Amino acid sequence: MKNTNRIICILLCTIIIFQLTGCYSANKSTHYSFSGFYFNTVINITLYDLSNVPDPKALESEIKEICLHYESLFSRTVEGSDVDRINKSKGAPVTVSEETIEILERALYYCDITDGAFDITTAPLSILWNVEGEDPKVPDEGLISEALSHVDYHLISISGNAVTLQDPEAKIDLGAIAKGYIADKIRDFLKSKNIDHVLINLGGNVLCMGGKSNSEKINVGIRRPFDETGEAIVSASITDGSIVTSGSYERYFEENGRIYHHIMDPATGYPADSDLLSVTVFSPSSMDGDALSTALFVLGTEKGMELIDSMPDCCAVFVDSNYSVHYSKGCSKIPVKVIDE
Ligand code: AMP
Ligand code: MG
Repeated sequence: MKNTNRIICILLCTIIIFQLTGCYSANKSTHYSFSGFYFNTVINITLYDLSNVPDPKALESEIKEICLHYESLFSRTVEGSDVDRINKSKGAPVTVSEETIEILERALYYCDITDGAFDITTAPLSILWNVEGEDPKVPDEGLISEALSHVDYHLISISGNAVTLQDPEAKIDLGAIAKGYIADKIRDFLKSKNIDHVLINLGGNVLCMGGKSNSEKINVGIRRPFDETGEAIVSASITDGSIVTSGSYERYFEENGRIYHHIMDPATGYPADSDLLSVTVFSPSSMDGDALSTALFVLGTEKGMELIDSMPDCCAVFVDSNYSVHYSKGCSKIPVKVIDE
């Protein structure tokens, strides 16, 4: 591997959870925390109140089943998933689950309102750039144009439970929204079991429900971009809601002193060259936060700020390339306390 072409995939969490102390054991059960590996990332779930949880291990298994279920529908790389079947359909209609229709419709809403800055057909570009692969390199211009010619969310049509890709070479990738969707579903599942105090962390896609207790919030930090020591640039105290970060420092490689990351600009075919290092969205729904954080990253501070200011109940923290922090208006209105470190 050449020095100028070094992959540096930082898989540290983008959101830091402060004061995660205590743990479940047979004798002492203050809270129960478990981890797993799904959606190509580490997940961690903490139940802070076990009063309605007679068997935490059984609940852990149920949640892991939910993760596997969604992975088997939404993953682009799992053979036979709904997304895989759509991508291999060569333009023929494919019947998919209700859940796949639900996430696709919400994703297409974000494609529309961002004028395609968010686009779930960026897969040909992600495959070409292969940012997370072995020895990635900047692809040839011609290959980028070719991949780009198959990127357009208007190519997706939905009729009932059937999904059609008008271009046989087009491919869907739900990587920018699926973790948020699944976090919401896990939260709903736990709510249905009368569990009130939970932290769901799907690879930095964080969703809090009820704080640690009725009187104690969950303290989180937004990681300082490119800081390998895990220092926070902004911290916040949350009772309910989602916090999701998209950043160029999450997955990238370097070539000739330039960073090439995983968030594509569907207008150019290159990694989004915005003025940002990261964007964090606070929102009631993690699916919305996930889609929005990716979209805002592509849009940049100015256009992104305009969009987030039009979304009720959401706010965003932008970290620009000078490490200056910009807050959207909603950060003062919603129950999120944002503090500069
Ligand atoms: P996130 O980490 O949520 O910001 O999502 C980034 C992932 O979404 C990438 O790894 C790709 O799989 C996919 N992706 C890349 N660019 C875009 C884009 N402009 N719109 C939607 N999804 C994208
Ligand atoms: Mg996202």
